[in-house]
Amino acid sequence: MHVLSTAAQVRAALAPLRRAGRTVALVPTMGALHPGHLSLVRLARECADVVVVSIFVNPLQFGPGEDLTAYPRDLDGDLAQLDPAGVHLVFAPGAGAFTPPDRHTVVTVTGLSTVLEGASRPGHLDGVTTVVAKLLGVVQPDFAVFGEKDYQQLVVLRTMVADLDLGVELLAAPLVREPDGLALSSRNAYLSARERRQALALSAALAEVRVTWDGDADRARSLLASRLRSAPGVRPDYAEVVDPETLAPLHGIVTGPARALVAAGVGRTRLIDNVGLQTSTATQAHVGALTIRTVTTPTPERRP
Ligand code: AMP
Repeated sequence: MHVLSTAAQVRAALAPLRRAGRTVALVPTMGALHPGHLSLVRLARECADVVVVSIFVNPLQFGPGEDLTAYPRDLDGDLAQLDPAGVHLVFAPGAGAFTPPDRHTVVTVTGLSTVLEGASRPGHLDGVTTVVAKLLGVVQPDFAVFGEKDYQQLVVLRTMVADLDLGVELLAAPLVREPDGLALSSRNAYLSARERRQALALSAALAEVRVTWDGDADRARSLLASRLRSAPGVRPDYAEVVDPETLAPLHGIVTGPARALVAAGVGRTRLIDNVGLQTSTATQAHVGALTIRTVTTPTPERRP
């Protein structure tokens, strides 16, 4: 496994592989890796010959007063997980060099980036799209893999790739949870034992909405909001039921698929979670101009 820190090194390492006809998948991460990230790596390995994982705590996606400096970092621990997972190349750029202060370009997906997370964290999704566009430019992968954990991010990136004709296929990996339902997140490391118990209110509310889903979007939204409001230690930010393609809030009786999304503060940690709401068990959804493939069965480990 190569660990490289500059765009030039990554391009030089990938050029001969690409000339030899090998396909490349990119898995962008901010490190502090957990089994959710590794599920993305498995999907990448299933789809492409060469897997590149980027590890970059992207300063552009943190607002003032957010946890940029406190964000967990453990490069050695991350590399120890990625090597046996069959990753070929890790791109870990330095923040100063990858997002220099004299840059002028911001990639904005209008509309979709100012609702939900974008409403609570102004500029956050612009920071994501700007840096992911840059990573795609450096690696020029055939596939890029993202998790449904950040569902809005997935929709925003899919839109960016389609609008800018970036020629990469986005793959979505299902959200990986702890056995008790908590969505795996690098930020869970901030939670005390008590807060971790309180944080279960998010996944529990979503699970309740999922099992009681009868197509009534308003009922589902009220149920989510009331469960979060009454949960001890939980400060609800939003509880929404939206169209999975446009992120527009749904009202009344819905016949097609829907997505329920929540965000809440627990202690000093901001948590997000979401579930799909649908009656069918389809695992492949055609979303807008781009097919987002969701793989639900784990694939066996294999060495490169
Ligand atoms: P992050 O390091 O938090 O920026 O996440 C990097 C990628 O991993 C993003 O595409 C996330 O959606 C994905 N991811 C993070 N947590 C999970 C999870 N619990 N299940 C599936 N994917 C995840």
